[in-house]
Amino acid sequence: MVGINSCCIECNHIITNPICASCLSEEMVLLVSETRPDLAQNIRGFHFDGDVHCIKCNESMGLCAHCFSKDIYEYIKENDSVLAKEFVNRFDFDLRRNLARDAF
Ligand SMILES: [Zn+2]
Ligand SMILES: [Zn+2]
Repeated sequence: MVGINSCCIECNHIITNPICASCLSEEMVLLVSETRPDLAQNIRGFHFDGDVHCIKCNESMGLCAHCFSKDIYEYIKENDSVLAKEFVNRFDFDLRRNLARDAF
């Protein structure tokens, strides 16, 4: 069933990859803390209500994995461009296609 709330609150696309920000942020923290524990401290998942449920923890969610990853990516890129590349390799929720125009 696809209702209006199945769409991401930020990009308005239907959420096809339902992993919530909390679950994603846990994996992101693991990756980032390997090289930059100081940056990892600032990565947190946010809870946005929606009709879609996370495939991992079953929490309702309203922000798609792509938008959340993009926010964190931008934060990392400001601080560590090498780590940002590794981040995209690992969390590739259409990030690469959207960033293709960047001198990246
Ligand atoms: Zn989105
Ligand atoms: Zn989750």
